[in-house]
Amino acid sequence: CRVFCPTGAITIRTNIGEVWKALADKDTRVVAQIAPAVRVAAGDAFGLPKGENAMGKIVAALHRMGFDEVFDTSYSADLTIMEESAEFLKRLEKGENLPLLTSCCPAWVKFVQDQFPDYKENISTCRSPQQMFSAVIKEYYRNPEHAEGKKTVVVSIMPCTAKKMEAERPNSYTKGEKDTDIVITTTELTRMIRTAGIALDKIEVESCDMPFGIASGAGVIFGVTGGVTEAVIRRLVPGHGNAVMDSIAEAGMRGEEGIKEFSITYEGKELNICVASGLANARKVMEQVQSGEKQYHLIEIMACRRGCIMGGGQPIPAGPRHKEARAKGLYRADGNMAIKKCTENPLMDVFYNGEDFKGKAHELLHNPF
Ligand code: SF4
Repeated sequence: CRVFCPTGAITIRTNIGEVWKALADKDTRVVAQIAPAVRVAAGDAFGLPKGENAMGKIVAALHRMGFDEVFDTSYSADLTIMEESAEFLKRLEKGENLPLLTSCCPAWVKFVQDQFPDYKENISTCRSPQQMFSAVIKEYYRNPEHAEGKKTVVVSIMPCTAKKMEAERPNSYTKGEKDTDIVITTTELTRMIRTAGIALDKIEVESCDMPFGIASGAGVIFGVTGGVTEAVIRRLVPGHGNAVMDSIAEAGMRGEEGIKEFSITYEGKELNICVASGLANARKVMEQVQSGEKQYHLIEIMACRRGCIMGGGQPIPAGPRHKEARAKGLYRADGNMAIKKCTENPLMDVFYNGEDFKGKAHELLHNPF
């Protein structure tokens, strides 16, 4: 089904019907994953304070609608950091394919592939958190013990219309099967909640399900520009106390500017880092890298200004105060979480030491080509 712009200029695909159909099928297990930025915007349509973290309410609403399992994409953001920081260290050691370009944002990845093809090899081989999680969920339910005779459908709830395109890409398949079956945006989610007659503002909070129900604060801040970089640095820097977290937060990746540059010292080496959001800024950064004017070790780019909190699938309008409220909402959510680093997430063990995933890290977490 499609929603048409009144002027006919834009056609936006909606996948709500496919989700209802899957939910109505008793032989199907419907599993949801919710991206970090969704939680600070979904409440807008229900009168919740701007930027309030509505994650527990969204989880409860999805359970009411009939989703069998609900997970937080921040879990696979933790997997992303485990993999991407290992990849970064390996490249630093070999001095190859630097700067490392982040790969979480499909619009940015496509931009590099089309506009700066000489830098294709610099893009991290890591799948995005959406694609990592879907591949992991599908693999988990390939085990007949977990599947209980049901087919699995993965529904990804994203702040982003580009994630629909990402789920269709040829490298978003594992073992010949599509990893993410359906992608819906935050606005599609709020329409479904309304259709189901659920008052999001009144519903009691519920938690995500096991075995992937715990994420770190580092995974949650993926939704705002600079979040991926901050998560990587948390992984690299030893210690986890408030003083360490505060000093990382002040390193230079946070804030409103479209392009931010800073350096950190890691094992005696100075690492130059650039964080940018918005494709006009991305172009500026890449042109400076191409001309040799700038040299970085790591570049994080999100195609939307300020990151996924301002994605194309989020409710509009979001004036300046709303933008700030959404970013603050994610930082506040991180502040409330005891686990700040991916390495301290006890459920990383489910993947790295679990029988279901032995020897499959590369196949499930990295792009095949
Ligand atoms: Fe999607 Fe925008 Fe986030 Fe990129 S920055 S993943 S385009 S919402």
